[in-house]
Amino acid sequence: MSGEFDLISWIAARVSPRSDVLLGIGDDGAILRPPAGSDLVIVTDTLNSGVHFPESTAARDVGWKALAVNLSDLAAMGAAPAWCTLALSLPAPDDAWLDACIDGFLALAEQHGIALVGGDTTRGPLSLTVTACGFVAAGTALRRDAAKVGDDIWVSGTLGDAAAALREVLQGKSCADALRSRLDRPTPRCALGQSLVGISHACIDVSDGVLQDLGHVCAASGVGAEVWLDSLPASDALVVLTVGAERWRLQSAGDDYELCFTADPSQRDGLVALSGVLGIRLTRVGHVIAGSGVRTLDGDGNEVRLKSSGYEHFA
Ligand code: ADP
Ligand code: MG
Repeated sequence: MSGEFDLISWIAARVSPRSDVLLGIGDDGAILRPPAGSDLVIVTDTLNSGVHFPESTAARDVGWKALAVNLSDLAAMGAAPAWCTLALSLPAPDDAWLDACIDGFLALAEQHGIALVGGDTTRGPLSLTVTACGFVAAGTALRRDAAKVGDDIWVSGTLGDAAAALREVLQGKSCADALRSRLDRPTPRCALGQSLVGISHACIDVSDGVLQDLGHVCAASGVGAEVWLDSLPASDALVVLTVGAERWRLQSAGDDYELCFTADPSQRDGLVALSGVLGIRLTRVGHVIAGSGVRTLDGDGNEVRLKSSGYEHFA
């Protein structure tokens, strides 16, 4: 490759087609045809080098993660991924880096059947902005504002691995692969999100930390929540590394890209079955109560206040 236009045709040649993409990369805009009877869900997220990923992150993982965080937002809305764009800002042309970055991006795109239909390529600090679109049957998207008093609160997968990996990286330590891969290559829960339509009342993806994100659900729904800290799901790798409040802090630090959702207790058996079908751990971590805010309780039922409970860019 020797310039922006070579780069674009090289990206276009690697994209898998979809029948609802009438015109993809190459013109001033893409032409897309949403299915009748669907609502279109649009999400966007930026990854800045040194803020959203350590500068040491492999190019392939940067590409993967840029799409993964957006797919996670679509999952949290219950939407089936369809189309995306990629706006890339690069400090200097670097064919090997770009090749690997696009490889990671398209490998995940392929897994989820989402088509890259456009983007922008500019010179500047390393940054990737993805916009992704998905479909959900009209009127059925999962939202933050629909939690009900008495609902169970559930979390998918495990929490805290990415934060533990980041801590080790920032301290210059070597980090277990099981943790590092969760920081670099999060697994968006797209199938789970779509399966939760009609089952879950409110849903959010855990990007800024489970307690902070659950707080958004509570505020939007006009309810409160009680969370049992001991029940927050932890991977074996995290259990080996941490104890007590240190583990709780990592589990509520963010970058997990799991789903946190509420559902009526009558859905428990169905959710256990769904967990088996999808092969994704689902854990009940608390319940929705009248009031406001998120109360965190230790194993004896005493309220615990954690020093930090999530990520805020301008805090
Ligand atoms: P314009 O000047 O009209 O904005 P560009 O030269 O920026 O056109 O882009 C030409 C085509 O290539 C457009 O279809 C655009 O969507 C696509 N494109 C540019 N950069 C990327 C990228 N990083 N990934 C995917 N498509 C891209
Ligand atoms: Mg452009």
